[in-house]
Amino acid sequence: MMLALNRNAAIERLGELLAQSSRGVAFTGAGISTECGIPDFRSPGGLWTKNQPIQFDDFVASQAARDEAWRRKFAMEDKFQAAKPGRGHRALASLVQRGKLSAVITQNIDNLHQLSGVPVPKVIELHGNGSYATCLDCQARYELDWVRARFEESGGTAPHCTACSGPVKSATISFGQAMPEEPMRRAEEETLAADLFLAIGSSLVVWPAAGFPVRAKRNGARLVIVNREATELDDMADLVVRDDIGDVLEPFIA
Ligand code: NAD
Ligand code: ZN
Repeated sequence: MMLALNRNAAIERLGELLAQSSRGVAFTGAGISTECGIPDFRSPGGLWTKNQPIQFDDFVASQAARDEAWRRKFAMEDKFQAAKPGRGHRALASLVQRGKLSAVITQNIDNLHQLSGVPVPKVIELHGNGSYATCLDCQARYELDWVRARFEESGGTAPHCTACSGPVKSATISFGQAMPEEPMRRAEEETLAADLFLAIGSSLVVWPAAGFPVRAKRNGARLVIVNREATELDDMADLVVRDDIGDVLEPFIA
């Protein structure tokens, strides 16, 4: 049953749910990073309204698609480099430290949960990490600076792997690309072990990621949704906080 409350009442209720929980899990989307200067996909003016995403098969098949993918990536890179963890990230790091949350499952690729002090093994990245690149064929790792230097000196041509000539791609999961097995397995394990599931800053429309809150709820966990817009799953939540993430989570920074 959904319960919509004003900000202070919502913060109080969230505090109670955390106090009653013995094992919580957070699940985050792009909304937790907007106050850090990284736009989300689906808000007005978000990335989605400017560019349709490049599908994985197109990236593999087409040099032009790879060139365009890297052009967009480098156009955004200054924002990613400059971003520091926000209040939401810091609150979740505190809750992990206090033993209230066992893991942070994230759809984000911006590395900000790690930078906020959540231990790396407790961050489960469902869509990879944009702070480095890999060869799609042999998995060799490449730093962004290396890719950028090749890209710029060739006038905007995406480079290939020096070992096997495979395509080099940012280490993120694109639309149409298989989900990473190990993070998916761990996310499922954490979801089913949790008695409280906090879905924060996600429109909850990207599957299979959005399946986790549903699984948690069906498994008996309490479900909290913090997002300033309505989401697909609001009707199933125990608490819906339709408000700014930083403002709502700031009191939980220890
Ligand atoms: P989304 O863009 O679909 O949804 C973000 C939601 O956050 C929106 O519903 C918006 O209303 C809400 N929101 C934004 N700022 C908020 C704030 N300050 N307070 C409260 N709510 C706020 O994001 P998604 O569900 O994460 O899916 C988009 C996909 O794009 C993800 O899978 C992710 O891989 C990728 N992505 C990642 C980043 C990042 O790493 N920071 C940024 C953009 C997109
Ligand atoms: Zn290779």
